[in-house]
Amino acid sequence: MTPTPLNLPLCEFDLIDRIRRRLGAQADVVLGIGDDAAIVQPLPDCQLVVCTDTLVKGVHYPPETAAADIGWKALAVNLSDLAAMGARPRWVTLALTRPEADEAWLEDFLDGFLALVITHGVALVGGDTTRGPESITVTAFGSVPPEQALRRDAAQLGDDLWVTGTLGDAALALQHWRDTGRIDNDLLAAQLNRPTPRIAFGLALRGIAHAAIDVSDGLLADAGHVARASSLGIELHADALPASDELAAMSALARQGLQLAGGDDYELCFSAPAESASQVQSVAAACDVRVTRIGRLVGGSGIHVLGADGEVISLSDQAYRHFAS
Ligand code: ADP
Ligand code: MG
Repeated sequence: MTPTPLNLPLCEFDLIDRIRRRLGAQADVVLGIGDDAAIVQPLPDCQLVVCTDTLVKGVHYPPETAAADIGWKALAVNLSDLAAMGARPRWVTLALTRPEADEAWLEDFLDGFLALVITHGVALVGGDTTRGPESITVTAFGSVPPEQALRRDAAQLGDDLWVTGTLGDAALALQHWRDTGRIDNDLLAAQLNRPTPRIAFGLALRGIAHAAIDVSDGLLADAGHVARASSLGIELHADALPASDELAAMSALARQGLQLAGGDDYELCFSAPAESASQVQSVAAACDVRVTRIGRLVGGSGIHVLGADGEVISLSDQAYRHFAS
């Protein structure tokens, strides 16, 4: 292992890789560090899918975000990881750190958090409460029949690449907030603060999709994880990326920047055999989810973004990296 010079900050993925490399294998751990969630096998006919994500005030949400929105988002981002595995959400724990005990804040937080708990039939079974700078950590547990989870490393050559919903709206909302200190557009605010975890669609994709990931760090970064884990490349059609009316009104360059590198979409990006396209469309319609074919899995490595005439567009990977300066 080459030591990283002290003046070069490690990015989030370097840190995770360091942790992963120090761990051994264990028989009841089907899939450890490296995907949207881990899979452990408590019983022969059921695998447990586990993920955890932290929201830090001022890093993952603007400081003025309403408590109810923070509660919603803290759970939504974890349920989104379970959705990306094709897992059924079952239980969650909540670790809450706040500078002071504030009853009104907590009630509002719970309004958002419990709304999703009820929608998805999960149980909040424990957690931890501490004093300190505001952050929220949720751990979510889901279940999946053995061998049916949707993993990042299972994409196959020739698969179509699909994405749910629209991309870039949360990034545009964040840009509004940075520019003006406000988010005036309700739709954009909802996309940033109240992402919809695609649970039903993730379940419906079991047996149809080969690989899946949720788009949390930006499409380029997350599709890049699928390509790398599956030892393939991806051809992505920039003008096929699904856009809301707000984004569609922007210049192609500005729009595609937000769609490719903006984060916080919490849409599912998945690969499926070309012959399953109509099945993908029909389960999406049944789940009331928009799906768009945005590219395909090719030989080689990396993401190749193609323009309208099939020309390769050169883009630097600007996906948000917590530990990069
Ligand atoms: P996601 O964006 O889907 O939430 P992350 O990029 O946060 O995924 O994490 C990628 C993988 O690394 C996951 O398997 C996660 O469980 C694992 N991971 C992240 N941080 C740590 C850590 N501190 N210790 C162990 N595993 C970690
Ligand atoms: Mg994820």
